[in-house]
Amino acid sequence: MGRKDVQKRMASLETMSTKERKKYANQRLKDIVRYAYQNAPAVKEKMDRAGVKPAQIRTNKDLEKIPITRKDDFTTLQKKNPPFGGFLAIPNENLEKVFISPGPIYEPQDAEEVIKSGAKALYAASFKKGDRVIVTLNYNMSPAGQRTDEILKKMGAVAIPTGVGNTELQIQIMKDLRVTGYVGTPSFLMTLVKRAEELGYNFRNDFVLHHAWTMGEMLSPALRKSLEQDYGISVLQGYGTAELGLLGYECHERSGMHIPEEMTIEIVNPQTGRQVEPGEIGEVVATPFNKIYPLIRFGTGDLSSITDEPCSCGRTSSRLTGILGRVGEEVKVRGMFVHPRQVEEVMAKFAQISNFQAVVSRIGERDELTINLELKDEVVDRSKLTDDLAKPFQDLCRVRADNIQFVAKGTIPKERKIILDERKWD
Ligand SMILES: [Zn+2]
Repeated sequence: MGRKDVQKRMASLETMSTKERKKYANQRLKDIVRYAYQNAPAVKEKMDRAGVKPAQIRTNKDLEKIPITRKDDFTTLQKKNPPFGGFLAIPNENLEKVFISPGPIYEPQDAEEVIKSGAKALYAASFKKGDRVIVTLNYNMSPAGQRTDEILKKMGAVAIPTGVGNTELQIQIMKDLRVTGYVGTPSFLMTLVKRAEELGYNFRNDFVLHHAWTMGEMLSPALRKSLEQDYGISVLQGYGTAELGLLGYECHERSGMHIPEEMTIEIVNPQTGRQVEPGEIGEVVATPFNKIYPLIRFGTGDLSSITDEPCSCGRTSSRLTGILGRVGEEVKVRGMFVHPRQVEEVMAKFAQISNFQAVVSRIGERDELTINLELKDEVVDRSKLTDDLAKPFQDLCRVRADNIQFVAKGTIPKERKIILDERKWD
């Protein structure tokens, strides 16, 4: 297929109707589970142990029958059965590349699938043929840098593999080669912009860098706003891991990360492995349609939630609403996981609040959630603020605050837990 055909095919997958999408995803899931069972001994072993046959897995929901493999288990499995823990599903001599994560964990990848999803992400972020892009990701051991080069090549863009660090040299390269795009972490992009200013450049006038795609760390709203408004760089982000490839990418709506068609994702209760409802937070568990290294139900340890609400960009995939943090940081309130970052996000909407803390206690058989607020200025209309806060809190955290109360300045310690769990379980 030529480049045009490839792009057309990818676009048609991204905008499939709900019915087509379900059919497509179920077919690919059935294929990969059957294939993995037949070719990857570790997958056969864990499915046999759970008494599950490939024919029983027809939909994403059926995946609950298969145990989750977590990153920690993975290290142990690879040590027990080196080097790939029984997950390699092709003959050794057919391997193209093996990447390595700290551990060491060995990660053969299915280049074709990773490049397909990566191209969707960069296309969504306005990267196109003719772009000149500095790739400031890691090129050693990790797939990030090398795969990005391959994705850019497929799109007809020029990759400049600058790698990590060398701030001043990167700035010179950006100027000399008239670099139009950036791929790397958001914080390093800001470092480059700030250093360029210190060197006397006017970023908007002296450079032509207009779009960036960031990964490797979460992009904070404040950082994005500054890069976009102060420096004219449109910034979209993606989320991926070395074992799984790309799990999500933003479109220009900036309202969550579309899940690529090259995998299926579940959000599960980290304790039970059961799927939670859309909008609830839980652990991201992925099953990539990867025939080289088929990780069926791989637990990332990252917390997120999924939304199925339609996106006005036209892509019909579900979206991850952002990565909230790692499993273990969340607090369960009345059966619902609440993450400190969700609470922070709500409070950031109210400039009147100077400090806050959510406190979970147990009254009888019921969890009670209280929000303590300190105000910047005591003259604020408290009952109005209480009313204004209640709904966004419930919408974002999926649980109602029982009490919203105001405390004197200095009551909440500066080094506080955002969610204080006062329940005793003995
Ligand atoms: Zn979208």
